Amino acid sequence: MRLEGLRFWDGLTDDYVEGAIDLAGEVIMAGGGREVVNLAGLTAIPGLIDCHVHMVLDPDVRDPLAQSKGDDETELAAMAARARSMVEAGITTARDLGGGRFLELELRDRIARREVVGPRLKCAGQPVTSPHGHCFFWGGEAADVDAAHAVIARQRQRGVDLVKVMATGGSMTKGTRPKDSQFDGETLAEIVAEAKRCGFDVAAHCHGTQGIGFAVRAGVRTVEHCSWVGDEGWGSAYDADIAAELVQAGVFVSPTVNAGWQRFLGKGDGFESRVKSNFEAMRTAGVRLVASTDAGIPNVRHADLARALPVFAAFAGLSPLEALRTATSAAACAIGLEGEVGVIAPGHSADLLFIEGDPLSDLGCLAAPVAVMARGRWVVPPP
Ligand SMILES: [Zn+2]
Repeated sequence: MRLEGLRFWDGLTDDYVEGAIDLAGEVIMAGGGREVVNLAGLTAIPGLIDCHVHMVLDPDVRDPLAQSKGDDETELAAMAARARSMVEAGITTARDLGGGRFLELELRDRIARREVVGPRLKCAGQPVTSPHGHCFFWGGEAADVDAAHAVIARQRQRGVDLVKVMATGGSMTKGTRPKDSQFDGETLAEIVAEAKRCGFDVAAHCHGTQGIGFAVRAGVRTVEHCSWVGDEGWGSAYDADIAAELVQAGVFVSPTVNAGWQRFLGKGDGFESRVKSNFEAMRTAGVRLVASTDAGIPNVRHADLARALPVFAAFAGLSPLEALRTATSAAACAIGLEGEVGVIAPGHSADLLFIEGDPLSDLGCLAAPVAVMARGRWVVPPP
């Protein structure tokens, strides 16, 4: 197939290319497409990537302990509806960072077999956490290194793609505090080393500054949230030395700024100014940022990455071009899918989002895609 008459942004460069995109089945190729589809007037970009979602969580259910009480097929039907809403909104890849019953792995496999329409998924299964620690209800509690190894072995046996570890407490779990580390530095390093021995990248949930430091020294691939929480609250304990370590180690930071953060913008309060100045410091230091929403937590909808991006850009001081990279090429690299997704180039998956307008100068147009293709098939066909 040859898609022609359009312009596209490839996910990497600074500007659009005028021309055609050629496809062979699921993959973009270098010229030679026969059946021609004229998409004059449209702009194509790589399908979006959300680096942090929870397919199993219903954003309308506030209490995590009241989540996913249905039988497997009931839950999977709800998850399939979420998956469809995502891909229809242009999210063609997502990384799932936790659930308790491995249902997201089954969803992943059904999508891969094309039984369900949805984004390509990478799944972490049950996060490793401390006894009664953050998201303990998902079943990944470990009191010591040996117990953590057993949790990782179980994830491996179930077929996860990566390991998630809760380096600090979180706001979703009563009895844990975001500031507090859940493991000492040595234990966290042992857990991450074991995951890597099993061939897994590690994503670390980190709110507190101490936990961020432990995670980067342990060798994680991505730091989730990276909230720099200290004694004075959210964003109060930015540490330039730890930021330098993040850069040195090539760790990606996935700050889970969702569309709802719009409500904090322009308030001029302490939260907004601390978060913005921490982002500015991280950007200046050269920390690599990727887009993520934590979709599934209360009021954060799975399909809302395009609406979150302008808000993320406003907090992080990113241009539209930089923000788009965080949700395409950079995200692919962070989640180990570089060379496969996130870029419009020969050999990459035909995951494409078509819009009217100019996303490199206005991210707002992403929220209303005209057409979406995932793995070479139209999910939303062109008009
Ligand atoms: Zn999460």
